[in-house]
Amino acid sequence: MANGEKRDYYEVLEVHRNASDTEIKKAYRKLAIKHHPDKNQGDKQAEEQFKEVSEAYEVLSDPQKRAQYDQFGHAGLGGGGYNSSDFGFGGGTPFGDIFGDIFGDLFGGRQQRRGGRRGEDLLYNLEINFEEAAFGIESKIDVPYNKRCGACNGSGAKPGTDPKVCPTCRGAGQVRFQQGYFSVSRTCSHCNGEGRVIDSPCSSCRGTGMERDTKTMSIKVPAGVETGNRLKLSGEGGQGSKGAPNGDLYVSISVRPHPVFSRENNDVICEIPISFVQAALGTEIPVPTLDGKINLKIPDGTQSGKVFRLREKGIPVLQGYGRGDQLVVIKVETPVNLNKKQRELLEEFARIGGEEIHPMKKNFFDKVVDLFS
Ligand SMILES: [Zn+2]
Ligand SMILES: [Zn+2]
Repeated sequence: MANGEKRDYYEVLEVHRNASDTEIKKAYRKLAIKHHPDKNQGDKQAEEQFKEVSEAYEVLSDPQKRAQYDQFGHAGLGGGGYNSSDFGFGGGTPFGDIFGDIFGDLFGGRQQRRGGRRGEDLLYNLEINFEEAAFGIESKIDVPYNKRCGACNGSGAKPGTDPKVCPTCRGAGQVRFQQGYFSVSRTCSHCNGEGRVIDSPCSSCRGTGMERDTKTMSIKVPAGVETGNRLKLSGEGGQGSKGAPNGDLYVSISVRPHPVFSRENNDVICEIPISFVQAALGTEIPVPTLDGKINLKIPDGTQSGKVFRLREKGIPVLQGYGRGDQLVVIKVETPVNLNKKQRELLEEFARIGGEEIHPMKKNFFDKVVDLFS
């Protein structure tokens, strides 16, 4: 499970995405009882399902975590120092209040599995520009992460010493006792279920076995990405403790806006203003594209809003073949700040021009003539 693709939490709890807190709690109760390890002794699959259900509930029952999850998915829970193992990957199953309600002394509370914690998932926001998103880029990023302490090699014990087997639970991480007819086990409070205790903690990590570090990585961003795309680098998150697997690193792409280009799917949109004289007489204009400047012929009589399509000048299809197009949207600009001479010429122009040179206008007023009369 820890290495595999994680299932959607809503799917795990079999609830819809806008399920109420009560619905989520109800769904969790049902599934937790069904998959509880004490009811499915030795059934590995039930154990995994139970962990999955508990983890999903841990997140969806907490409004803040649920909001983060809704927005960013699993990776959202890795950001901001949130350690995914806090809700039970490698560690114990988090038994909330509701769990106490259901099982109480019957199952004896927390079932802690010994061993390390999976490293945390990390989320890195990478900002790139429009062209880099279009054609891809190799980018160097500095990623802060947790790694095993170099001084104690992750044991948490002072170099030269070893963690000792916990005398209270004799390394089991749990203590069992009899209550009525039931044999009950609880997490050992002496070692917190770890099964080991450290007498003299490592001074450089204060016994945690982990330290903070930054690694520089080279990320290959594929051509065609856009804002919101996420690249997953398996095993590149925080290091797991005591042999547990590393977390994953997610790189979230954010593309800076371009001064003249915008994007629609794989097409590049570019609006270009031309003068009304150019539009009327026809012209050739330089057009910027992702591949450099090209000349575009504007035929005479071109109207504002006319779109010219430049085939295969758009954005490459992400992890696919071919490219989108560039759409050049013509905006005919009405002249402003005319001087006396220009005004006279236009008045002259208007005097000699007939209706036939403005067919759209003629057509429109023909249609509404009844409304005016
Ligand atoms: Zn250390
Ligand atoms: Zn113990």
